[in-house]
Amino acid sequence: MNKLTHATVELLERRWLKTATVLAVRTWKPATFLEVDLHLPDCDMSKWQQSQHMKCKVGLLAYRDYSPSGWDADTRTCTLFIDAGHEGPGSQWVKGLKTGDAVAYLGISSSHHEPAPGKRMVFLGDETAIGHFLSLQQLAGKGARIDGAIALAHKHHQDEFARYFSGLGLETLSKGGAGNIYAALEEWVSGVDPADGDDPVFYVAGYVPAVVRLRKLLKGKGYSSRQVRCQGFWD
Ligand SMILES: Cc1cc2nc3c(=O)[nH]c(=O)nc-3n(C[C@H](O)[C@H](O)[C@H](O)COP(=O)(O)OP(=O)(O)OC[C@H]3O[C@@H](n4cnc5c(N)ncnc54)[C@H](O)[C@@H]3O)c2cc1C
Repeated sequence: MNKLTHATVELLERRWLKTATVLAVRTWKPATFLEVDLHLPDCDMSKWQQSQHMKCKVGLLAYRDYSPSGWDADTRTCTLFIDAGHEGPGSQWVKGLKTGDAVAYLGISSSHHEPAPGKRMVFLGDETAIGHFLSLQQLAGKGARIDGAIALAHKHHQDEFARYFSGLGLETLSKGGAGNIYAALEEWVSGVDPADGDDPVFYVAGYVPAVVRLRKLLKGKGYSSRQVRCQGFWD
């Protein structure tokens, strides 16, 4: 990009970008998964009724989506859970964040998933979906019936997840190799029996090809589109 274009983009960005401040960063072991607490003075979270995603500026003209969870509308704070186990501007950016840093973001908008009141909610996904699922749990409130499974690449992350998020009620599974990273989730879905008759709603999020496969498996078992809600996060 030439200097003039660069300057124009920066000028436009300055008009649109909002700023959050990093309150804390917690890094899991191994350091490929991070929790980032943010303060967002410009964000009114009080009317959120669906899960949200925040478009963060992670580099020059580079934006990546992350799901706010654990928000407190009074203090205007929330937490992002970010997978950084691959090479990419978003991974690099989050690994460099520290307390007090400014985070520029374009905006926060709905990810179009909302709780299904009174129904059993079944979550299926990977590291990238943790924030999304926690936000659905928060929106569903106390007494929500949640279960499902989460596929994580590292054994230690599985242990940490089981320890810190036992309240979510998800089974932790190992991600398979590059050929089929969601093999364990597919197996989990194979064991789902529609004859149980409890009218569940499935929320599937994460790796796009795997989300497509899981959706097909669930639809093949007779679940309707209303019962299978999917979000592709990366491919
Ligand atoms: C609505 C929405 C909400 C999201 N919420 C979250 C969230 O809360 N937390 C979160 O971690 N992610 C979330 N994501 C996914 C995240 O935006 C993408 O994974 C993003 O591409 C990561 O950017 P990057 O610059 O690190 O990698 P990219 O530059 O986009 O990709 C570089 C390479 O890494 C691969 N790659 C990208 N992401 C992953 C991954 N997770 N695992 C393995 N390989 C990967 C790509 O296929 C590509 O080959 C969300 C996405 C959407 C659409």
